Amino acid sequence: MGIEGQERLRAARALVVGAGGLGCPAALYLAAAGIGRLTIADSDKVDLTNLQRQILYRTDSVGAVKVEAARDALNAVNPDVQVTPLQKRLTGEDAASLVSRVDVVLDCSDNFVTRHALNRACVAAKKPLVAGAAIRFDAQLMVFDFRQADSPCYSCLFPEDSQVEEVQCSVMGVFAPLTGAIGAMQAMEAIKLVAQVGESAKGKLQIFDALRAEWRSVKVAKDPACVVCGKS
Ligand SMILES: [Zn+2]
Repeated sequence: MGIEGQERLRAARALVVGAGGLGCPAALYLAAAGIGRLTIADSDKVDLTNLQRQILYRTDSVGAVKVEAARDALNAVNPDVQVTPLQKRLTGEDAASLVSRVDVVLDCSDNFVTRHALNRACVAAKKPLVAGAAIRFDAQLMVFDFRQADSPCYSCLFPEDSQVEEVQCSVMGVFAPLTGAIGAMQAMEAIKLVAQVGESAKGKLQIFDALRAEWRSVKVAKDPACVVCGKS
């Protein structure tokens, strides 16, 4: 990355939404790599049954507020990172004001309401969004760089009004190392974006099938009729 890339990383602010299976490894790599400031948002407390994938926590943090335990763990790795814990589930308004204050957003959440709120906020503020998702043995990684006018958005791919059945890890379960892999890739793409190195994975949906150990990459085009980004 070079000195310049390191300096850009140190000056950068990231928002990680969700301190679970994706958010833990993503935040850990961002902090260890030396990102300047990191806000981490989640409303939950640490649960024993999630420790196999929520790798920032230990058995003695069970019952603690996740984002506070996360801050302590991140600062134990790198005390120079300014971590802001936010114990709440983000709404549209919160998302807009938080997103406007950072350089990159990592969607590590587990529900469509948060995903769409973050997408809208990132489109409006023209901030890059790195979205990850994992369920059972299947995962997805998407990068949207709204600094570029022709970028598709999350809603181009999964329209806000579509009747998708929501399946959450809390119900269906997820293969723990898979969330680790996707969370680490989210950190990787976020670091590349703020340090301005390489080419981001933007404009494509990457799908990983852990059972077959196979990646697929699908090009995503901007939908001119998209209710979120179509008119911009
Ligand atoms: Zn769109």
